[in-house]
Amino acid sequence: MDQRTHSWIAIRAIALLEDEDKKSNLVALLKPHVKEATVGAWIPDQIDAKRGGSIMDNHVLKIRQLDEGQDAKVGQKKRFIMSKSDLLSQIGEYRKTAKVIQKRGDSLGDTWWGTPFYGEIPKRGQHLPNRAMALSTMIEDLLLMGNKEIDNLIPGGVSFIESLSSDMRTSEDAAAMYFFMLSHFIADSCMPCHCDGRPLAKYGAGLHKELEKHWSELIDVGFDKKNILKPTVRATDVLAMAREVDSKFAGLDLKNAKVPSLVKGHDVWLETMYGCRASFAVANIIALPDKYQKKAKFKDVLGDGNESLLKDVDMAAMYDAVLNTAIVWKYIWNKVSKKTKEK
Ligand SMILES: [Zn+2]
Repeated sequence: MDQRTHSWIAIRAIALLEDEDKKSNLVALLKPHVKEATVGAWIPDQIDAKRGGSIMDNHVLKIRQLDEGQDAKVGQKKRFIMSKSDLLSQIGEYRKTAKVIQKRGDSLGDTWWGTPFYGEIPKRGQHLPNRAMALSTMIEDLLLMGNKEIDNLIPGGVSFIESLSSDMRTSEDAAAMYFFMLSHFIADSCMPCHCDGRPLAKYGAGLHKELEKHWSELIDVGFDKKNILKPTVRATDVLAMAREVDSKFAGLDLKNAKVPSLVKGHDVWLETMYGCRASFAVANIIALPDKYQKKAKFKDVLGDGNESLLKDVDMAAMYDAVLNTAIVWKYIWNKVSKKTKEK
């Protein structure tokens, strides 16, 4: 997803939380900085591309088939097989990705659902669920050490806070930016090609780039950095504009979405891991594995004649990217609010 799409996802997630609860303290923290979401939500792609000396993105989880002979992992073959019903039970029926898998998952056939797939990790510890989990945990800690304004938004207190200078404490701007950065990882986990290890899903191979271009065109220039970061643009207008984008994706009924907590028993790591696995299933539904491996053109798999599939794919990626962002943000916020209350 490009800067514009990441920007819209983060902004739309704030609007979703606001629609659910106008008095939410999390919204009170994020809303004044809504314009900066356009910068923050794009930071991971900029940092990862420019620093750390690696051309391997370190927030990618590409899922591949586990072949016989892959030494240590073969012993865990069973662990890497996930039936359709198992996957659905891990991703929650309120997700549109679940709806698409329910409706179209059988097209993959029993062999596919019985195949072991594993997430290939280019560098130890550097993959999408790890990055999402790490940043989530860090945000919790940083919020506990928030400045006076943040402190006022979170119930309870922290005994040592007065011994920290105000510069050592987290400012609202910084906290908002960390939330926006987190939205990037969550959004990427909802992009089918991002989670697909087949050659056809590489960015330069066609489908990946073209699908992102398709979303970017629907979201439009209003969410480009240069158009949002103007002094004349007001937070309320940005949120209203984000809600209007729903109508571009036919049937994107985010207006009525509820924001639940994580699936029972999950932490952010598991939630993101299963999210990637579900997105991988959607990638295979788009480009069926027995027909496509190396290359799949957008026009062949999602073009004329495949309008209803494209609509489902748009829905799974866009709706879930916004909803999942709101889910994880709210989960962190509730956790921190509860933690301090108990002290
Ligand atoms: Zn990214």
